[in-house]
This record gives sequence, C-alpha cells and structure tokens, in this order.
Amino acid sequence: MTVRRSVTILGSTGSIGVSTLDLLAEAVAHGSAEVEIIALTAGRNVERLAEQARLWRPKLAVIADADLGDTLRDRLAGSGVQTAAGPEAVKTAAAMGADWVMSAIVGSAGLAPTLAAARTGAIIALANKESLICAGPALLETVRKANGVLIPVDSEHSAIFQVLQPDCRDRVARLILTASGGPFREWTREAMAGASREQALAHPNWSMGAKISIDSATMMNKGLEMIEAAYLFSTPADRIDVLIHPQSVIHSLVEYQDGSTLAQLGPPDMRAPIACAFAWPDRLPWPAQRLDLAAIGSLTFQAPDLDRFPAISLARQALRAGGAAPNAMNAANEAAVAAFLDRRIGFLDIAATVAETLERMDAAGDLIAGANADGALEIAMITDTSARRVAADVLASL
Ligand code: NDP
Repeated sequence: MTVRRSVTILGSTGSIGVSTLDLLAEAVAHGSAEVEIIALTAGRNVERLAEQARLWRPKLAVIADADLGDTLRDRLAGSGVQTAAGPEAVKTAAAMGADWVMSAIVGSAGLAPTLAAARTGAIIALANKESLICAGPALLETVRKANGVLIPVDSEHSAIFQVLQPDCRDRVARLILTASGGPFREWTREAMAGASREQALAHPNWSMGAKISIDSATMMNKGLEMIEAAYLFSTPADRIDVLIHPQSVIHSLVEYQDGSTLAQLGPPDMRAPIACAFAWPDRLPWPAQRLDLAAIGSLTFQAPDLDRFPAISLARQALRAGGAAPNAMNAANEAAVAAFLDRRIGFLDIAATVAETLERMDAAGDLIAGANADGALEIAMITDTSARRVAADVLASL
C-alpha cells in the first residue's frame, strides 16, 4: 500500500513542520508514501525554509514576514521554486489545492490560512489548536461545507479520534485528556514564582516550539486542549477531564457509559499522530519507534492540582461562558507568554494576566460576540485585537 498525497505545510520550519517533513521523508524512503509538496510556509526562519524548499521542490515557498521576501527569493534563485512573502501569500499557499494540508503555524496567526485551506475541501491535519479556540464552530462548519476532513494532530485529540467509535458518540460518558504535568509538576507555587524562561522551556517528555512548551508548563496547554476537544468532539465542558500521567504513554482516553474505557498508547513522538493524520483511515507503515511496555514497567496517574495550575480552571470557565471568551483567553495567553519569553514578567504572571484580561473584558461586556457566524474570521480578529490591547494594559501594570 502506498499513500499518495499532494501536501502543503503551513509552518514547515517549526517543531511540527520539521517532524512532518521528517516523517514524509521516512515514509517515502520506506516506499509507503508518494508525496508532491505544493507549498511550504514559514514565519521568519528564511534559511531553514530555503533549505527545505531546495530539498523538497515545492511549487511555492512563502515567508510570512514581508521584509524577508527578497532574502527568500535570493536564497532560492535558480531552484525553480516560486517565492512570495507576507500574510496574504501564506493564505494563497494554503489555498493552492493540496490534498493534505498540515496546519502547524503557532498561535492565532494560523486561523486565516487554516480557514483558507479548509475552503478548498482539503484534508486538514490540525496541529494549530489556537485556530479552533479562536473560531472552532466556524472552522468546523467551513470544513463540512467544503466536504473536507479535519484530523487532529495534537496527540491527545488524535488519541480520542482513534478510539471514538463513530456509532457510539452519544454513549460517551467522559473524555479524559492526559497531561504530563510539564516541568513544574512537583514544584510549589513559591518555587514557580521564580521559575526562569529556561526552566519553563525544559519539557520533560516532548521537544516542542517555545509557545506550546510554556503553555505546557502553565498547563494552559491542557486548558486549550479541553476547548479543542469540546469543539472537535461536540462534548460539553463537564464531560472533559484532565488526568496527570507523567510518562506520556497513554495519550488520552474515552470512557463509555457501559463502564468501558478505551485508550490510545504510543511513544511520545509527534510523528505518530502526524502519520495517523496523513494516512487516515489507513495506517502508514514507517520505521516507527515501538512501545516497549515491559521496559517502561509502570504507568502512573494523579489528579491535576488546580491551585498550582489555575489555567485549567480559567479555560473551563471560558469554555462554559462560550461566545468570545475562549478566543479572548487565547489572545491574552499569547500576549502573556510572549512577555514571559521576553523576560518582562514572572511565570505566575502568565495565568494572572489571562484571568485579569478576561475579568476586565467581561465587565465591559466584550465577551459576548460569538465566532460562529459568517464573517467569523473578522469577528475573531476583532476579539483577538481587543484582548491583546487589554492584556497589554494588564502587563504594563504588573
Ligand atoms: P513552532 O514555534 O516550533 O513553529 C511554528 C511555525 O509557525 C514555524 O514554522 C513559524 O515560522 C511559523 N510562524 C510563526 N509565526 C507565524 C506567523 N505570524 N505567520 C506565519 N507563520 C508563522 O511551533 P510548534 O511546531 O511547536 O507548534 C505549532 C502548532 O502545533 C501550535 O499551535 C502548537 O500548539 C501545536 N502543537 C505542537 C506540538 C509540538 O509537539 N510541537 C504538539 C501538539 C500541538 P518560523 O520558524 O519562521 O518562526
């Protein structure tokens, strides 16, 4: 069996983008995939993008930072690869008609290109969870209207996607998202207050981009994933639980009403959920690392500590509130994480900034708008901009 697909990767230079190209190279070498790359896009890393484009020969390579367009063109001169620059060009790349589009831009910047790809009816492999948080119902509706498919790449949602029996969706009692607990799982709040950028970036199990690594340390990542799961699997907030599982072997579970719980297991390697999304509903033969449970020995679990990790409760509240709250929470979090990475605020200030931003916007009546109507992108962007403005005020007052 050979999986044949034309492929576009949005965010090819990031952690997920690189893992995707690595997996595709492995599968092609293994003889299980034939791949034509249509477009590759990046934010600012022009050297890595040019290197990828020289190797994979896409039709188009796009750099989102318009100031780097000339550099990209120079780097790819004579290669036969067309180049373009700027956010509009990223959307053009997304809409070029690839069979399979990996959505792996980080943050709400991924929303517009992901929607553009969804309108083509492509299979969307969704790593960019923020686009679902910002405009989940609209994105899913766009995929449905275009007769496309959206396959989650986040390992937890890939796990649920794999064990959710389509005929028994209304027999689900609970979705259980596992979480490693991040680098501060055992830290006191006092210790977390003084955590450095380097300590927060040092995830124990996964090697990921900076933003999601910080989200894992605050556990906002699990909060975002709760909202992602609610939209993807049409499940209310009170039927989604979080379970700390430090080994990251069980990627998530579905508990059914008959008391049976199904789980998906695998090594902590993002190429596994990417392979699942690439070949679905088939399974991709590639030289994957196999799970050796005897060597692992034991798997452990504990309940999350909501006092030390308030981001989980913030996300649950935002999900329950609905409207613009998840989108505003996401924007405030992106602003606060950027401030922490710039060493402008302390670690505990991240969740505090998100909480304060949501409170101020709620008091001003700014969390009511939804993002599920026509024009969802515009509505989502308005909320994103106003939440970032409020968050900037909060950050300035710290
Ligand atoms: P990275 O930061 O490693 O990569 C992000 C990618 O997006 C890069 O290609 C980057 O370009 C590009 N980019 C950044 N800003 C913009 C912009 N404004 N416009 C266009 N492109 C931009 O992130 P990850 O790969 O870790 O994560 C990507 C997404 O996948 C996130 O939503 C994350 O939550 C999700 N995810 C990641 C996992 C992981 O293991 N890494 C696991 C599960 C989900 P450049 O390199 O030039 O900066």
